[in-house]
Amino acid sequence: MAFQLPAGPARVRVAPSPTGDPHVGTAYVALFNKAVAVRTGGQFILRIEDTDRSRYVEGAERMIFEALRWLGLDYDEGPDVGGPCAPYRQSERTALYREAAERLLATGKAYRCFCTPERLAELRAAQRRDRRPPGYDGRCRALAAAEVERLLAAGTPWTVRLAVPRTGTTRFEDGLRGPIQFENSEIDDQVLLKSDGHPTYHLANVVDDHAMRITHVIRAEEWISSTPKHVLLYEAFGWPPPVFVHLPLLRNADRSKISKRKNPVSLLWYREQGFLPEALLNFLALMGHSMPDEREIFSLEEFYAEFDPGRLKTTGPVFDLAKLQWLNGEWIRRLPPQEFVRRVLAHHGEPYARRPELVARVAPLVQPRIRTLAEWPSYADTFFRGCSDYEAALLVPKPLDAAMARQLLEQAQQIAARAEPFAAAVLEQQAREAVAKLGCKVGPAFMVLRVAITGARVSPPLFESMEVLGREETLARLQAALAKLATAEATGTGS
Ligand code: GLU
Repeated sequence: MAFQLPAGPARVRVAPSPTGDPHVGTAYVALFNKAVAVRTGGQFILRIEDTDRSRYVEGAERMIFEALRWLGLDYDEGPDVGGPCAPYRQSERTALYREAAERLLATGKAYRCFCTPERLAELRAAQRRDRRPPGYDGRCRALAAAEVERLLAAGTPWTVRLAVPRTGTTRFEDGLRGPIQFENSEIDDQVLLKSDGHPTYHLANVVDDHAMRITHVIRAEEWISSTPKHVLLYEAFGWPPPVFVHLPLLRNADRSKISKRKNPVSLLWYREQGFLPEALLNFLALMGHSMPDEREIFSLEEFYAEFDPGRLKTTGPVFDLAKLQWLNGEWIRRLPPQEFVRRVLAHHGEPYARRPELVARVAPLVQPRIRTLAEWPSYADTFFRGCSDYEAALLVPKPLDAAMARQLLEQAQQIAARAEPFAAAVLEQQAREAVAKLGCKVGPAFMVLRVAITGARVSPPLFESMEVLGREETLARLQAALAKLATAEATGTGS
């Protein structure tokens, strides 16, 4: 039932509005559009729909460019890259929309509406009171030509509305959902051009999709109810409509449309948290499409190669952050060591950038343990900032007592002083022997050392950490732990 990839090149687009941070839904829709372009040797276009100036946010557009590039969802045409259908920013195409509206007025497919905002507000209030569906009552549709002339001459403000047929149905074939139809009697005579001469979303969207020769409109399911209006517009203009495909919305855990109250939605947030583009794209692809072998981890290239409209999902996937974190950890582990270092440095900068060779030595200890790049400092900082500010009580894990902790630390000092070479395997073997001789369990014994060496109960592997720190620093940390223990005992703050 799903649409087929066309034999020739498809032209597809993503058309976000610059109203805030770049949205994860934009990346999701962009990904599937781009897949269609890649698979058909077509073009993927970015269009900025900035006609609603009241919601315009300065800088939002640039963040959309950046976020799409960060993800590797580069576009073939767009405001900042140009292209044969430029400009790609709706605010620069106003003349086109006015001409289009004029055409519809001339052919009687649209009409001027002179109703005041006050009258429209009263109409809405009355409809609400009588529990009737909202919508324009068509008063200006029947105005005589002479009356229109008189109002125009008097300088009365006007909008342009589409003259939606009063009877019949409007149908379209959704590329995923099959035939969808709406009763024309339920479709409002929507405003196409506002009184300030700016177009509404519907007019600008259709005029641009036509002018930009878009073959497939692939967008979120929330636009289904707008589609009959668009189909009517295509008919009114006498243009062939594109294929419409409505992707299922990303959802919160309670299945409501994804929203920032319940889920992070800003792509900037995902970048700041150290999600890898590879993981986020993999995750978004999984949300909307299944791979033939149900594979869960795959690259963008693999996704493009396997993309099949027949495998698009039709029910709204729940955006499961925990799953994304897991997937991100998997992707972090897949990075070649040098690449992992590069990403850490790019993400965190200072103080790490000053010591790249230490980053390279610490990286193998941390790479297997983190789920996001943001977690890097919690494991790595012990190597960069020292670890003196932990609680003395951590040095005495149950069931040990302070005397045993002290003995363990002293033994460790002796081992660290003599081990040759000063290497993880040597240190570990000798430490195990010493612990056994003391008649202590390995778990709590190593915990004492772990806290002394790293300052935390959760850390990179103990003996590898010692090796990276080196003999001198290891001895210094063991000494500091003993001192801390002694102070705590003297002041009664140890356990
Ligand atoms: N500007 C709309 C949006 O923000 C575009 C919807 C469409 O793709 O037609 O999602």
